[in-house]
Amino acid sequence: MTKIYNFAAGPAVLPEAVLQQVQAELLDWHGAGMSVMEMSHRGKEFMSIAAEAEADLRELMNIPANYKVLFLQGGASAQFGMIPMNLLRGKKTADYLNTGEWSKKAIAEAKKYCEVNVVASSADKNFSYVPQQSAWNLNADAAYVHYTSNETIGGVELFWTPEVGAVPLVADMSSHILSRPVDVAKHALIYAGAQKNIGPAGLTIVIVRDDLIGETLSGTPNMYDYKVHAENDSMYNTPPTFAVYVAGLVFKWLKAHGGLAAMEKINITKASMLYDYLDATDFYHCPTAKENRSRMNIPFTLKNEALDEEFLKQAKALGLVQLKGHRSVGGMRASIYNAMPVEGVKVLVAFMKEFEKNNS
Ligand SMILES: *Cc1c(COP(=O)(O)O)cnc(C)c1O
Repeated sequence: MTKIYNFAAGPAVLPEAVLQQVQAELLDWHGAGMSVMEMSHRGKEFMSIAAEAEADLRELMNIPANYKVLFLQGGASAQFGMIPMNLLRGKKTADYLNTGEWSKKAIAEAKKYCEVNVVASSADKNFSYVPQQSAWNLNADAAYVHYTSNETIGGVELFWTPEVGAVPLVADMSSHILSRPVDVAKHALIYAGAQKNIGPAGLTIVIVRDDLIGETLSGTPNMYDYKVHAENDSMYNTPPTFAVYVAGLVFKWLKAHGGLAAMEKINITKASMLYDYLDATDFYHCPTAKENRSRMNIPFTLKNEALDEEFLKQAKALGLVQLKGHRSVGGMRASIYNAMPVEGVKVLVAFMKEFEKNNS
């Protein structure tokens, strides 16, 4: 079998060592005589798996004690509604930064519950950059400020934390959580679907400051109430047990590799290999502003788009898969999450150079 390098945006590549451990433990987890998939979520085995996953995530991200870590379902998309339902707390408006496709979805959902003030937008340049904070029109009376810290589709990342004073700051970190250290304490709430940089689809992680919990809009279903989940240690209903287990193994893998500061170094190396080449050629083009280029999701186009299909075909033959760009941007996109080895990016860049040579 050709070695496959999977550049999918999500569900995405997982560390091979983690998959091997899952395989080894699949039928008999630590002598329990059964798979994690078959265990009661209230039994002591699974409770220990969940508790360890939470403790490891707290250590990796340096999460302060006054924050709850919730293991939920519904994807980041459910958070688009849960955030206004839980964080409006009597206020009528919320601030949103619009940097692309995921921001737009969050905004559209929030509009069902409150007035949305778009503090700034990069729509004028096809969402290829992040507006400077000096150009944001923040409302001091907003219930919270929401931003998408990494736009998975446009490949745009914020490398700084917005300064929003006393207004709670909320971040959708779905596609770059755990790729580098972030200051959790500067945020009121951080959320991420697991299927990009954490683990299998089906798990959503919410990190929320505990003073913000407990005042939902009337009519909020229990499943959409952070308080219900917090009071029940994310076991109000059956959690996505297998996804929590695999995420826990990924956290251990990250710890064994030196944690998030070490990951950041590797991620800089990987992203630079690709961006440096993109900047050195006219054959390909990267549409994003240099200071906002995502280290996780790298969109690029071929100058001659008639070659797109041939590019994808030849890449696939070499084991380089899922490089087709999102339909809203076109071209290509290489997602190079934590679990993508440096070697995978090397092989990709070598192929791109060869393809350029043969087609120019
Ligand atoms: C993938 C993604 C989402 C949607 O996640 P689901 O888990 O499919 O709901 C939201 N925001 C960002 C930044 C994403 O990358």
